[in-house]
Amino acid sequence: GLRSLKLNTVAKDYSVASTLPNHIRVLQWNILSQTLGQNNDGFVRCPEEALTWENRKFLIVQEILQYNPDIICLQEVDHFKFLQTILGTQNYEGIFFPKPDSPCLYIEENNGPDGCAIFFRRDKFELKNFDTRILEVWRVQSNQVAIVVNLAVKSTGKEFCVCTTHLKARHGSLLSKLRNEQGRDLLHFVKQFCGEKPVLICGDFNAEPTEPVYATVLSGKQLQLASAYADIKAERDECNNDSAEEHKANIDSSDDAQTRSAEEEEADAEHVQLCDDKVIKSIQCEPPYTTWKIREDGEECHTIDYVFYTPEQFKVRNCLEFPRDDEVGKNRTPSFQYPSDHFSLVCDFELLDKQ
Ligand code: NDP
Ligand code: CA
Repeated sequence: GLRSLKLNTVAKDYSVASTLPNHIRVLQWNILSQTLGQNNDGFVRCPEEALTWENRKFLIVQEILQYNPDIICLQEVDHFKFLQTILGTQNYEGIFFPKPDSPCLYIEENNGPDGCAIFFRRDKFELKNFDTRILEVWRVQSNQVAIVVNLAVKSTGKEFCVCTTHLKARHGSLLSKLRNEQGRDLLHFVKQFCGEKPVLICGDFNAEPTEPVYATVLSGKQLQLASAYADIKAERDECNNDSAEEHKANIDSSDDAQTRSAEEEEADAEHVQLCDDKVIKSIQCEPPYTTWKIREDGEECHTIDYVFYTPEQFKVRNCLEFPRDDEVGKNRTPSFQYPSDHFSLVCDFELLDKQ
């Protein structure tokens, strides 16, 4: 199904806008690993037939290409060669970095490890260089990865960076702490590589906005980042009115207060401290969901995917709306209509002239 781009200042015909060198459209999407989706996820309301690669592959390509993105950030890619071939015919060049110990490899019928990928339009950008990272947690490598690329707009020579990542999944206070550490390592990695250049960080952070890693990303001392969807909603005054106190009360609500150690108390205090007015406002303005699925243990509908950017150097012009409740359907996703349990995020940026 085609989703409508809510257009404001960007030219209505995107093919016009895309020729403007400073306009950059980014698509962020966890496409759902074929091996995991079919064998591991347990999407109890999704017909088996809808999960076959034969059914999914063209839906995935269609979803990506219909928005005509300049840059594509993907997670759970376990068919990179296929995407590289198809997207290659549409003038995209891609980089793939697999997880070091992908869960796909423990499933008999796998198509290799899953990982992150970045594609970019090779007629518009020149790849200056790139780097990959296995994210570290307390100085030990984890099973989560990131890619960062430095691109130059061909017609102007102007450079910027794009990073993508997929943080550790699952609930619980220990895992939310782990994601926070991965976020810190990610910021360090990106800053080291990008210096003062404009930055976009797109990914499946597996963390709701009330988790520590969200505040960590928005409060980075070295990199000033903001969240694209939240900023567009704030601009349009479409945020929810939950009080700041409610959000603070939500912080680490997964923790059992009875069993909290002094260390955990300290981590919570640190998190609360990072939640200044700017972070709270951003939390209130995030969309209601970026993933919506039903597993045996119930329905999950939450916001865990983001497009972060340096607002000093980019302006968000527009973001793609998510499908409404009735459009998603009662069995939620994946489905014959939506090939992944995550929705794609699409943002139009303008690369600002001032540095
Ligand atoms: P993660 O914990 O980050 O998650 C791996 C994948 O599982 C993600 O793509 C995630 O999707 C998905 N996922 C999240 N929640 C659920 C759920 N409730 N049910 C099913 N799938 C879910 O993985 P790691 O990279 O840290 O790897 C650890 C995993 O690797 C283990 O969980 C294990 O399955 C597997 N493994 C197996 C071994 C074996 O011998 N069998 C040995 C070593 C690892 P999303 O991000 O979209 O939420
Ligand atoms: Ca998944």
